[in-house]
Formats: sequence, C-alpha cells, structure tokens
Amino acid sequence: MNHQSTTRQDRPLIIGVLALQGAFEAHATALTALGVTAKLVRTPAELANIDGLIIPGGESTTFLKFLERDGFLDALESFVETTPTFGTCAGAILLAKNVENPAQTSLAALDITVERNAYGRQIDSTILTAPTELPGGPLEMVFIRAPRITRTGPSVETLATRDGFPVLVREGHLLAATFHPELSNDSRVHQLFLDLIRNRA
Ligand code: GLN
Repeated sequence: MNHQSTTRQDRPLIIGVLALQGAFEAHATALTALGVTAKLVRTPAELANIDGLIIPGGESTTFLKFLERDGFLDALESFVETTPTFGTCAGAILLAKNVENPAQTSLAALDITVERNAYGRQIDSTILTAPTELPGGPLEMVFIRAPRITRTGPSVETLATRDGFPVLVREGHLLAATFHPELSNDSRVHQLFLDLIRNRA
C-alpha cells in the first residue's frame, strides 16, 4: 500500500462524499484512484468515522431541500466546524459564510462571499487551463454554472484565480473550488485535500 495513503495510525483515510444529489460518483472515483476509501454519505449518521468530506457540485438549492430534513443541516454544520471538508461548486456555495444572487441559507463555515451563477447560464460553462499555486504546471478547471467568490476573509488563502477572482481557496481545514476538479484527469486538487487532512493529523 502507498504509505501516503495512511494516517499516523496507519489506517487508510476514509473520505465521505455527500451523495444526496449532483456529481458525487466522479469524486468517489478520483478518491479511490488516490488510494483512499470513498464512502457515500446519505444520512447524518454516515458522517461518523470519516476523516474528511467532499460536498460535490450540483444545485445548492436542491441540496438544501434534502439537508433540511432529519436535522442533516445542523449535523453538517457541526461536522464542518471541526472536520476537513472540501466543497466544489454548489458545495462551495454551501460552505460560504455569505451567499448572494439570491441570498440563501448555508453552513456559513468558510469566510467567503459567493455570487451564484455569476458567469451566466448553463451555456456559459467553460474549461480554463491556467497556472495556479499548485505545483506541476497549469491546471484544467471545468466551470459549470459556477459561482464567483467576491470576497475572502483575512484568513482565507487563494490558490487559483479566474479573471482576478479566487476559484480555489483554503481556510484552515476547509477547501473550496468553484470549478469541478473531479471532471478533469488531474488528481492534484483531490491530493491537496488529502494532504490537508494528513498534515493536520
Ligand atoms: N449553479 C449551481 C448553484 O447555484 C452550482 C452549479 C454547480 O455545482 N455546478 O447551486
């Protein structure tokens, strides 16, 4: 087994992927390829015993509809306070402290403001390849009805930008991308999330 895939307790990492809606399968595939265990999370109880969570892209309003049942939103709110979580696209919207266009409920965990659907309609979805703070050269970034991060708090680190706006940000144990790294054949963003978990352990 790849030693990088184990924690100090020498147990493979178990990463949850919120599987209520949206692009969860491709995240699970990307995680498995990196040698960790991907666990689909569909109930609040399934948040137990995972080392990190990915909240995938999809439709944030639809996520909220599901999460408003069974106390899932409250459970997730407590979870993301302490456990590494990576939100992509709609997932980033759910993590954001402030959501605009229109304003909506969120987990309010990550100190950013996002404007939903900021680049126009579905047809505006774009693939951009650009340099980022990640090692290893330009990164392909797939944007699908993406939000725009219009404000970052003082402790938020920007790791990639599009037109001068952050598209990949980190604040402590939280990571958010306004694009879909699971749709590119490049594991660096998922690897970054795993490194963040391991460096914290
Ligand atoms: N437009 C969606 C929203 O506002 C996000 C799109 C995505 O996750 N690809 O929730």
